[in-house]
Amino acid sequence: MAISTIDPATGKTLRTFTPLSAEELEAKLQTAADTFRTYRETTFADRVTWLRRAADLLEAEADRYGRIMTQEMGKPIDAAKAEAKKCATACRYYVDKGESLLRDRLVDMGTGRAFVRYQPLGPVLAIMPWNFPFWQVVRFAAPALMAGNVGLLKHAHNVPQCALALEELFLQAGFPRGAFQTLLIETADVHRVIEDRRVRAVTLTGSEGAGRAVGAAAGKAIKKVVLELGGSDPFIVMPSADMEKAVETAVSARLINNGQSCIAAKRFIVADAIYPEFERRFVERMKRVTVGDPMDAKTDLGPLATRGILDGLHAQVEASVKAGARLLLGGKPLEGPGNFYPATVLAEPPPQAPAFHDELFGPVATLLRARDVDHALELANATPFGLGASVWTQDEAEQRRFIDGIDAGMVFVNALVASDARLPFGGVKHSGHGRELADVGIHEFVNIKSVRIA
Ligand code: NDP
Repeated sequence: MAISTIDPATGKTLRTFTPLSAEELEAKLQTAADTFRTYRETTFADRVTWLRRAADLLEAEADRYGRIMTQEMGKPIDAAKAEAKKCATACRYYVDKGESLLRDRLVDMGTGRAFVRYQPLGPVLAIMPWNFPFWQVVRFAAPALMAGNVGLLKHAHNVPQCALALEELFLQAGFPRGAFQTLLIETADVHRVIEDRRVRAVTLTGSEGAGRAVGAAAGKAIKKVVLELGGSDPFIVMPSADMEKAVETAVSARLINNGQSCIAAKRFIVADAIYPEFERRFVERMKRVTVGDPMDAKTDLGPLATRGILDGLHAQVEASVKAGARLLLGGKPLEGPGNFYPATVLAEPPPQAPAFHDELFGPVATLLRARDVDHALELANATPFGLGASVWTQDEAEQRRFIDGIDAGMVFVNALVASDARLPFGGVKHSGHGRELADVGIHEFVNIKSVRIA
């Protein structure tokens, strides 16, 4: 796939980039290794200054960064600007907490002295997706740079201008040249980078398929890897839920980022007693969604990022209807240019339907009925994924059952699942392993060194 900017709203190719030659890639890897030797010696005070400046720039330039994102991957413009500002929150979190999270931790062994020291690993390769083209990168880069690592970004082929803007951002913020580099390379070259002895660890956010390939390559090279993969998050609504709030949040949770978020709610599991009302109100609300130009602030739902995503999503919808799901709304790509797909609702697919167990990466909601709490839990866990879950109930006993029983990295009660720098982010099962953000995120790419002095 060519590294290029194709406007998802029109299908027009706006810019194409030549991938790095073998010599250029070699030079960048050597720069990363050379920079690491000096960068790791910089003080926390220096890194704090640079990261704070990165946060300031993300806020000051949010409009410009937002336009680049929307043009390359089609998210509504206000959400794109908000994404740039959210990146600043992750930078500020590590500005405030980084040094204390990385300070030597004393351990009382009875005699002598013992402590744990956190040291950087070296150049870390980040393979990132197009859906949150700034946030996914910054939530890796902020803690990694704070810990003294240097970053190498292999961004998705359809967001090269976002990738270059991020490199420029860290440079402008004051980080040394080489501390954060973008590699405009094709997927075929990624494995060489993973194998390269100068690269010490890998992180990937993306699909299950990419996770298997990258995880296998990192395993073969015996390198640490964090995988943040897809999800088919349940959104459970029980009879005691605030129906109005649950429906409103359900629509936002499904349509966030034009439906292309790993933590978007995808399967709505509703208790039998309230199912008919929920279905009626949810479909009504989904009907009112405005689809259109993502640069227009009034648009709720922009185009899907690529033609391939649209074709794949439509095939999943068709297969689900063929398997027996009821199509209540939408279900066909919109005519005309651009990758537009309408808000779509499928109800009660059988277990063999893609809508029942796969990740649907677009504005397609799947409604399922649950007989009781046990059945709701069984349905929630009936996919290979385990990323997030949103549970709507006022009943505390039910809340406890769901918090304990759902196989997921994150459970939110009476709230939308959202990432936040203060909370660990990641999943179980095929949603991947490792965690980003918070205290644990900064400890993923460090050598946790135990020291004992007799
Ligand atoms: P991919 O997983 O293909 O892309 C994510 C990143 O991984 C990109 O930089 C991509 O590069 C790279 N990549 C892909 N395959 C390999 C490989 N074999 N080895 C090394 N790097 C690789 O996502 P898609 O864009 O194709 O989206 C497809 C599906 O992935 C979606 O429908 C959704 O299910 C899931 N997804 C999940 C995301 C999440 O947030 N968890 C984010 C994006 C997608 P390149 O672009 O050059 O192929």
